[in-house]
Amino acid sequence: MSSRAASSDLLQIRFWGVRGSTCASGPQFVEFGGHTPCVEIRCGERLFIVDAGTGLSALGAQLGPSAPKDIDILLSHLHLDHIGGLPFFKPALLGQDRVIRTYCGNLEGDSAMASLDRLFAPPLFPVRLGQLPARFEHHGFKAGQPLVFDDGARVETCLLNHPGGATGYRFRHRNRSVCYISDVEHSEPWPDTDLVAFIRDADLVIYDGMFCDSEYTNCRGWGHSTWQKGVELVQTAGAKALAIFHLYPGHDDAFLKICEAEMQKNMPTAFVARERQLVTLEAEEEPAAAAAEPKAVLAKA
Ligand SMILES: [Zn+2]
Ligand SMILES: [Zn+2]
Repeated sequence: MSSRAASSDLLQIRFWGVRGSTCASGPQFVEFGGHTPCVEIRCGERLFIVDAGTGLSALGAQLGPSAPKDIDILLSHLHLDHIGGLPFFKPALLGQDRVIRTYCGNLEGDSAMASLDRLFAPPLFPVRLGQLPARFEHHGFKAGQPLVFDDGARVETCLLNHPGGATGYRFRHRNRSVCYISDVEHSEPWPDTDLVAFIRDADLVIYDGMFCDSEYTNCRGWGHSTWQKGVELVQTAGAKALAIFHLYPGHDDAFLKICEAEMQKNMPTAFVARERQLVTLEAEEEPAAAAAEPKAVLAKA
């Protein structure tokens, strides 16, 4: 079915980095991968990149010289695991006709510019972003306000409970939608009613399930959640599928597969996100003809 759909009808998500806090590496981390957060979202041909963790370098290599001239990178926040890939993003080296825009929503309207200029500068880093061939533009907004782009694209945003705040995003395309909810710590009571409203009926929710409930008492206040709270949230909101994301670097493939089997007992469409995994959401048929329950088509590259 997917093979017949025009690419303009598709909402596609590819995970380029799914680890949180820091990278993981070694033979026990092969299936889920080791890069920190970066997700490619295609609304038809339109590219959005969410977060610029170390996975961004692999995405840049994949895009190659045919990368769009203008690239929008929507940052959840500026913790190191979400921005470390920026200077290694190949399209930034392609030429002066390239524009890379970052969007940051958790700094009371300020952009990421001052923070990035402080980090990517000697002695912390040898090259400033401003020295790269492409032109960087940094935009600030207040999480909760929608982002509206020059080409008419629109992305909804919300503020997440995380130290210093983080921004959640909701992308819509041809009646399908995907939400990116990382980094976030669940609140008491749970689920949070504003978050439920934000993700309601989404086709896929990417959620910070860094820990298990059994680990959480030792990690309270760190700004992260559990896969069990993710299942509770998306089921309350009527969302159709759940990708557990921002994986703890100490959780190896064997452990994560046990978690995945456990969560699928409660929610068969829940899964643990894998690096380079592609999720394709095909446009729903209009209007009453849509007979079957829409399903995410999952494939591993
Ligand atoms: Zn993080
Ligand atoms: Zn963080």
